Amino acid sequence: MASKAQVQPEEHNDGLADYEDEVAEETSAEAAAGAKAKDVKKGSYVGIHASGFRDFLLKPELLSAITDCGFEHPSEVQQEAIPQAIYGQDIICQAKSGMGKTAVFVLAALQLIQEADIKEGKVDTLVICHTRELAYQICKEFLRFSKNIPDIKVRVFYGGIGMDIHRQMLKKETPHIVIGTPGRMRALIDEKLLKVNAVKRFIIDECDQVLDNISMRTDVQAIFRATPHEKQVMLFSATINKELREVCKKFTQNALQIFIDDTKLTLHGLQQYYVKLEDKAKNRKLNDLLDNLEFNQVIIFVNGTKRCEALNKLLTDCNFPSICVYGGKGKGGLSQEERLKRYNLFKEYKSRIMVATDLFGRGVDFERVNIVINYDMPKDADSYLHRVGRSGRFGTKGLAISFVSTTEDAQVLEAVQARFEVNVKELPDEIDTSTYMS
Ligand code: ADP
Repeated sequence: MASKAQVQPEEHNDGLADYEDEVAEETSAEAAAGAKAKDVKKGSYVGIHASGFRDFLLKPELLSAITDCGFEHPSEVQQEAIPQAIYGQDIICQAKSGMGKTAVFVLAALQLIQEADIKEGKVDTLVICHTRELAYQICKEFLRFSKNIPDIKVRVFYGGIGMDIHRQMLKKETPHIVIGTPGRMRALIDEKLLKVNAVKRFIIDECDQVLDNISMRTDVQAIFRATPHEKQVMLFSATINKELREVCKKFTQNALQIFIDDTKLTLHGLQQYYVKLEDKAKNRKLNDLLDNLEFNQVIIFVNGTKRCEALNKLLTDCNFPSICVYGGKGKGGLSQEERLKRYNLFKEYKSRIMVATDLFGRGVDFERVNIVINYDMPKDADSYLHRVGRSGRFGTKGLAISFVSTTEDAQVLEAVQARFEVNVKELPDEIDTSTYMS
């Protein structure tokens, strides 16, 4: 069982707790609300109006927290979405990863929650996402921005420890902001411990990941139906395809659609290369790269838990400061406690190399990562986008290097180039450090 102290952030640390593996039932259900969506497509960076956070007329408590967080100017997605979100509008928002989507819904929820509702002690906002680490990260973001709002309670619910801990937490007090993964959130609602009948905001982050997965989608639908019909719905992701857009519309009413992630722009600013080599030559090449490249932090993506552990062992044996993290339930997987411990180690810069599976391919924000290496090529172009989006966060520079060893790998690389209109070149012998280090 996790010792809370190990994994809690400093402030309001009672918002975070571990949880047990989720058991998601597969039932058939339909998305509850259906409505027309208003398409206001934002296809490029044109039309940036240079507004500051002050122009959003946010509560002074929020503005001071924003300053404390070191946010000076809103990003494009924040400029487009925050004014609409704080107006109570439903939103479907696609913007490339690292653009600051989290702050959009965190600030909107904190802006909109009323003092009277805080006093009354009802759940005001639900945020659903697909991994425990992301839920944890979102919770931390809420804690950061709500530090000057008295009495607001933010709690996160996800698997990893017994339900009892969450039962006790909810019996003791009702949080105003609830973040969680679908299975545990649904279980707590089904037990009538988490009361969502007064929810005013329903948010899904990485919504494609959540809604593409049938069991998560079923849970989300059940949670959605348990909340009032009249509520604000906000859905976010870096990738929302046409089919999913239709699904998203069913959850929203007259949603404003903000699509800032024009695929052509998606990977700009990031140096991308490939290396053609046989599988058995990968270790040697990786060694060379880690010796010769300059980096703040690196994430090395592999396909599969065993490869993840084996590669990490190899690196640590060679004295590289590496850790590994992967998912997987039960046998062969890491415990939730261990996963969060390693997440924090890396986040706090106590380790500079992380070997990971796609568990950390999405959403999770490590701001110091400037190099991503696809030791194993991802399975498709979307996964590539999410993985390489771990570097060059929020407009910083980054480098992505992909190892291509099979025909399938080469096909994925081709798909990436076609989809994102980028030219991924063969890795040269030397790369100018200033192109990928800020
Ligand atoms: P996304 O959800 O779009 O992938 P995140 O919300 O994780 O992106 O934000 C990426 C990083 O950028 C985070 O470290 C976040 O704190 C930082 N960030 C977000 N908005 C701003 C801003 N306006 N100014 C400075 N940093 C920001």
